[in-house]
Amino acid sequence: MKNYIRTPKHKEKKSQVLQGIFGTLERNEAMKRLRNKGLSYTSIATLFKISKQRVHQIVSGYQAINNARGRNFEWWGSLCRAVFDRDDNQCQLCQSRDKLLIHHIDSDDRNNALDNLISLCFRCHCKLHLHKRGDAS
Ligand SMILES: [Zn+2]
Ligand SMILES: [Zn+2]
Repeated sequence: MKNYIRTPKHKEKKSQVLQGIFGTLERNEAMKRLRNKGLSYTSIATLFKISKQRVHQIVSGYQAINNARGRNFEWWGSLCRAVFDRDDNQCQLCQSRDKLLIHHIDSDDRNNALDNLISLCFRCHCKLHLHKRGDAS
């Protein structure tokens, strides 16, 4: 449950930005699903109120703009910025502002749900992964 008394206004606004990014991704995924079900580009375009060309770009051109790890670069970039912003550009373990990166809490880098992403500094991130490896062996 959200505690609105403790949530500053600017943080609420930031989470709206994040929701917007996720909304776009969900919309793209929905388009791809519809296309897989055999819906025509024209029908999808009408449904989402965008051009047929854009639908084609999203559905078939999606892979081309993905990086090797299967993420959309632009989307991932804006998501990182939004998560850093939410976390006040601080490592959430040691409060350092040096060399921040995004960590997937459940170690599944396909799970880009908001509450699975956290800002960590390079050092804490290394420690965390070394620790995990130690546990596994
Ligand atoms: Zn740290
Ligand atoms: Zn990590």
